Amino acid sequence: MWNRNVETFLGCEASFDEASIVLFGAPFDSTTSYRPGARFASRAMRQESYGLETYSPYQGRDLADYTVFDSGDLELPFGDPIKPLRMIRTRTEAILENDKLPFLIGGEHLVTLGAVEAVFAKYPDLHIIHFDAHADLREEYLGNPLSHACVIRRCWDLLGDDRISQFGIRSGDRTEFDWSRENRHVSTQLFNFDGLEQTLEAIGDKPVYLTVDLDVLDPSIFPGTGTPEAGGVSFMDLLDALLLVIGQSNVVGCDVTELAPSLDPSGVSTAVACKVVREMLLALG
Ligand code: MN
Ligand code: MN
Repeated sequence: MWNRNVETFLGCEASFDEASIVLFGAPFDSTTSYRPGARFASRAMRQESYGLETYSPYQGRDLADYTVFDSGDLELPFGDPIKPLRMIRTRTEAILENDKLPFLIGGEHLVTLGAVEAVFAKYPDLHIIHFDAHADLREEYLGNPLSHACVIRRCWDLLGDDRISQFGIRSGDRTEFDWSRENRHVSTQLFNFDGLEQTLEAIGDKPVYLTVDLDVLDPSIFPGTGTPEAGGVSFMDLLDALLLVIGQSNVVGCDVTELAPSLDPSGVSTAVACKVVREMLLALG
């Protein structure tokens, strides 16, 4: 009868010990280049998630049958990203040390770097699958190499060539596309998920980190994000791609970033983000 009022993401009420997946939030958006607000995403998603069912008709699976632990949000300082990234890395390391899968909810996309550092330390042959509207391959943005506009470039600094494949990309400056295309450092699929299956076949059973910047979705269904880009994918396109990646590869860590709930007064963007997380959890479990 008397339970402490602790709000978790829908259906994520397992204890840490019994959990196979551990969720955590990183409410950080200090390097957001246009419209801030992603720091509020994880809290908004926990609340909004109860508008969904635990059962997914897409997968015929129910979160109630799964063991996911929601470890809440990190208490990150704002401003300089160095300390927040270290805290995200430390939390990810602790989850990996216990042989559980880390599932990070941003925050802006820069938070991915902290998680990737930890996952790469455990899995040196790591590959990254990256869904986004933006290439995020800048060497620096406004003089800052630690910006959400540079996060995949920073991941490349760690992993090197032929390890990162990005899909849905429809925005970036010329230097990012030239760097990716001419030097073949990163494989960039414009606009959609074409070639995803072949990419996964090439990766085989090597470990994969899946990073989902939700602005890959079209802003007509996902306007609540800092840098909306017209011409995005549909929810069903994204769902199919997520199920393909998780079903056919060895995903060892993942994240969902860049929901800024206050930028969409209708609340639809938060509802969409929750459904993305539900489906990812069900596929991973
Ligand atoms: Mn991004
Ligand atoms: Mn983006």
